[in-house]
Amino acid sequence: MLLIHCPYCEEDREEEEFAPAGQAHIQRPLDPEALSDEQWAAYLFFRKNPRGLHHELWNHATGCRKFFNVTRNTATYQILESYKIGQQPSFTSEGVK
Ligand SMILES: [Zn+2]
Repeated sequence: MLLIHCPYCEEDREEEEFAPAGQAHIQRPLDPEALSDEQWAAYLFFRKNPRGLHHELWNHATGCRKFFNVTRNTATYQILESYKIGQQPSFTSEGVK
């Protein structure tokens, strides 16, 4: 069982209280009308699937119900950090910032 730190509750809670919500840091295009169908499809449907560090969006579904980001190693399931929406990760695939 994973323990996940909610940055809003400031507690480590059991994985069952959380729901994953996909890749983090996906920005909506500034001018969607200017995109081709292929670019719009890439924005809507295509996500990274790395082996290693991945930034993910999670929801504390049975707790505070807020969304936050997690940096997780997909090979080991180790969670390196969790941080609030709007904040940047300390860990990147290139190393620690
Ligand atoms: Zn929470």
